[in-house]
Amino acid sequence: MKKLIAGNWKLNGSLAANEALLTELAQGLQASPAACDVVVCTPAPYLAQVHALKSAQSALAVLEVGGQDVSTQASGAYTGEISAAMLKELGCRYVIVGHSERRQYHGETDALVADKAKAALAAGITPIVCVGETLAEREAGRTEEVVKRQLAAVIHANGHCISEIVVAYEPVWAIGTGKTASPEEAQAVHAVLRAQLKAATDQSARIKLLYGGSMNAANAASLLAQSDIDGGLIGGAALKAADFLKIIAAASV
Ligand code: PEP
Repeated sequence: MKKLIAGNWKLNGSLAANEALLTELAQGLQASPAACDVVVCTPAPYLAQVHALKSAQSALAVLEVGGQDVSTQASGAYTGEISAAMLKELGCRYVIVGHSERRQYHGETDALVADKAKAALAAGITPIVCVGETLAEREAGRTEEVVKRQLAAVIHANGHCISEIVVAYEPVWAIGTGKTASPEEAQAVHAVLRAQLKAATDQSARIKLLYGGSMNAANAASLLAQSDIDGGLIGGAALKAADFLKIIAAASV
C-alpha cells in the first residue's frame, strides 16, 4: 500500500507564505518525485488558493488538498460552518475530523466526529479520523480503551463505508510537544486499531493508519517502518518545506 503523508497547517499561513511554501515543495518534488500520496490540510480560506497553485505546477500533481474540519450539516442557518459539498467544490479530497484540538477546544464528542465523517463520506471526501489518548489516560493504562471507543463511534455510524476512511492515531501528549511516541508504542496502538477495523469490515486492508504527534524529518523513517503505520499526519513539520519533503522522502522508499 502506498503511504500517505498529510500535512495539517492548523491556524497558520498567509497568501504569501502559502505560495512560498508550495513553490519550495514543488522544487523539491520536481527534483525528487514522491512515491507516496501527499495532502496538505489548509485553513479553509486558503483552500482555493492552494488548489489553484497545485493545478498551475505540474510538480505538485501528486499533492491533494484537504480541509481541517467539516460541518455535519449540508446547508442552512449554521453560521461559521463549512459543508462537505463546499470543501469538495474547492478541490478537497480529504478532511480531518476529530482532531484532538477540536475535541479539546470545541467540545467535539465521539458522536459528532462520527457524524462529520459521515458527512464527508456522503460528499465523496475521505475523512482522516483522528483518535488518541491524553497523557492522563495513558498513565492510567486507558489508551486502548479510549482509542477503541473513539473509533467504534465512527465504525458504528458509517457501516460498510468504513473502508473509505483514513485513521490517524495521534496521542494528545505528543501533538506539538516535541514528544513522539516510540515506534514500538505507536505500532502497538496501530495494531489494536487494525484489529478493530478488521473485525468491522473485510475491506480493512485498504484503510490507511497514520501516526501523528511530533513526527519530523529525523524520526519519520523509524515510525513509517512499522508494519501497521501507513503514513503520517504532520503539524509543525508540514510548515517547513525542507522538513516536509524529508518526511515525504522517508515515506517514498
Ligand atoms: C497535528 O496537528 O495533527 C500534529 C500531529 O501536530 P505536530 O506534528 O506539530 O505534533
